[in-house]
Amino acid sequence: MKLTQHLAGTDKTILSFEVLPPTKGRSIESLYATLDPFMEFKPSYVNVTYHRAEQIYKKRHDGTFERVEIRKRPGTVGICAAIMNKYQVEAIPHLICGGFSKEETENALIDLHYLGIRNVLALRGDAAANEKFFVPHPHGHNYSEELVKQIITLNNGQYMEEDILDGVKTDFCIGVAGYPEKHFEAPNLQTDIANLKRKIDIGADYITTQMFFNNKHYYDYVARCKETGINQPIIPGLKPLSGKKQLTVIPRVFNVEIPVELYTEIMKCKTDADVELVGTEWLLEQCRDLLRNGAPVLHFYTLSKPHIIYNVLKKLF
Ligand code: FAD
Repeated sequence: MKLTQHLAGTDKTILSFEVLPPTKGRSIESLYATLDPFMEFKPSYVNVTYHRAEQIYKKRHDGTFERVEIRKRPGTVGICAAIMNKYQVEAIPHLICGGFSKEETENALIDLHYLGIRNVLALRGDAAANEKFFVPHPHGHNYSEELVKQIITLNNGQYMEEDILDGVKTDFCIGVAGYPEKHFEAPNLQTDIANLKRKIDIGADYITTQMFFNNKHYYDYVARCKETGINQPIIPGLKPLSGKKQLTVIPRVFNVEIPVELYTEIMKCKTDADVELVGTEWLLEQCRDLLRNGAPVLHFYTLSKPHIIYNVLKKLF
């Protein structure tokens, strides 16, 4: 079922989780171990991230180095199929522009459609690890907006090979990313929202936000998007804090602020267990507030500390 259908079918806030594919060589059981406890809360869908290939230098036996391409976390599509099969829950693969030609993207979309996957999150992706700025594939997309356009084109039954007539129409519900505290490359929030609006005008169905730790950023963002004419659901992304290191890493990597109050409470903590308690309480309050204000979904980034999210959900429901 499409995410938009889930939302249309209820006036309650629904739940979803984002998971990462295991690192290469590890079993899918580790992912099931993260997801199993969450099934008690009947999530409507599970997002699965995509991780592009990295170039690394590998030492040869003779001491020289060769450049090789590796994918540390392959398997997004297979994992989506496995999740749908095991839990009977919709899985949403993340699709990125980085590293893909348009033809490869079209073929990936055909695979997803064959598997019965009806939801995708269309993203640009970040710069490759060895690059400073995002460099598109020579036959790929510069921005997620172009990826959205490609998916819509396929939804209309138009394939890249023009001699395919009466092509099967795919039927993807398309999500895109939004940044309540603006994307790090955008000169200002207004421009970032104008860029988001184009994705919506092309046909994106909903927005999932970057994590935030101050709900005011989310509410302000929703209001500004509405003023700009964006009326699609805006799904808040939530993540618990669990360690002091995150106080500097998260703002740098995700361009989000840690509120003074949260920062001060965490700095008082003596152990990681204390930080987890503060992180749990903070997330719980964020969720209560979002529920009171009718957020369409609570979407949790489960990376690293799923038990905190579980504890929060136990207190909420
Ligand atoms: P875009 O929408 O292309 O925007 C990128 C930047 O370009 C923004 O600053 C925007 O304002 C600007 N821009 C957009 N269109 C134009 C235009 N036409 N002209 C000029 N500027 C423009 N990354 C992964 O690699 N894998 C994942 O699985 C993944 N999952 C994510 C899930 C969520 C919910 C979020 C919020 C992010 C995720 N990311 C993921 C990170 C994402 O790929 C990066 O944040 C990336 O830098 C931007 O992606 P985007 O789709 O927002 O890009």
